[in-house]
Amino acid sequence: MNKQGAGAFIADFIRQSGPMDVGQYMTLSLGHPEFGYYMTRDPFGGQGDFTTAPEISQIFGELIGAMLADIWITSSRPDPFILLECGPGRGTLMADILRATRKVEGFHEAMRLHLLEISPVLKEKQAEKLKGYHPVFIGDLQALPKNMPVLGVANEFLDALPIIQAVSGETGWQERVVAVNNDSRLIWALRPLSPVLEALIPADLRGVPAGSIVELSPARAAFIKDLCTVLRRQLGAFTLIDYGYTEPGYGDTLQALYRHQYVDPLDRPGEADITAHVDFKMLQSVAAREGCQVTGPVSQRDFLHGLGISKRADALNKGAGKGQIEVINDQMNRLVASDQMGNLFKVMGISYGG
Ligand code: SAH
Repeated sequence: MNKQGAGAFIADFIRQSGPMDVGQYMTLSLGHPEFGYYMTRDPFGGQGDFTTAPEISQIFGELIGAMLADIWITSSRPDPFILLECGPGRGTLMADILRATRKVEGFHEAMRLHLLEISPVLKEKQAEKLKGYHPVFIGDLQALPKNMPVLGVANEFLDALPIIQAVSGETGWQERVVAVNNDSRLIWALRPLSPVLEALIPADLRGVPAGSIVELSPARAAFIKDLCTVLRRQLGAFTLIDYGYTEPGYGDTLQALYRHQYVDPLDRPGEADITAHVDFKMLQSVAAREGCQVTGPVSQRDFLHGLGISKRADALNKGAGKGQIEVINDQMNRLVASDQMGNLFKVMGISYGG
């Protein structure tokens, strides 16, 4: 559906029910069954709106595959176990993980592949790409089998889950919401922040200058809580990779990408990918409160160097021609360089049971 369709639907909704919070705006823009961004398209690559680490280089998934195999082996090779990916996109990361683990004896036989995905278009791509491995699609962590350990990964999944924005004021906190003006254009507005949300603002951010935005994400906290429930019940380890920050911070990180350009988040609902940076400190404290073990967060650069990205690139370069070597090195650079994805992206592990 075109811009007008999505924008008009949201504008109507607001006229009928009043301004909506940023989370509801993200949920409708991304996940509305008819015009939601993820529901209608494959957003990746040159023709799409953005690209991700596994789409940049096969090494990313191969190293994660090696890590998962290592965890599986050091946990005494549980059989069966759930191999879980949340938000698998085109299925590229999982395809690389599976290729890298093909020679790990018993791993594929023991694994029960589960994919948490909302998009019908992407589910079809994932099913096609991973068809030899009988993936089971789920819409919710509660749908996982409850009697076997879980090894899992999510890359750029949490950034798509909704946030809300609190704005500090001279006389108290307000919430940033989406409203409409007389021309039916979507505009920003403020309303009082509910005490329930205000209670979620971290103590060290309570004194920020007036006008500052503090982002909260009950939806991401709920996902981590559900994940911890699964890990506590059936043991396992899960790796989260996303762009974000590791210390409580303030500022507006809501962003919209349309054909590889940043656009105003209110300009193209349903047509642009709308995300916000991930607060790893919050994820960490939820997981710790839930009794799980947290590893990291570390930068993507340190994570991939720790897993031996340079060695893997060297090995690929051995069989490659000159042009290809440049491509491989350039791809590696995009993943690890500080001014590319290396610093902005963080990696955090959550586990239970050794
Ligand atoms: N991990 C992939 C894709 C990242 S894009 C990669 O690195 O290339 C985000 C992915 O999460 C998409 O597959 C999208 O459809 C999915 N997604 C977004 N919101 C979701 C939700 N609420 N539940 C399940 N999947 C969701």
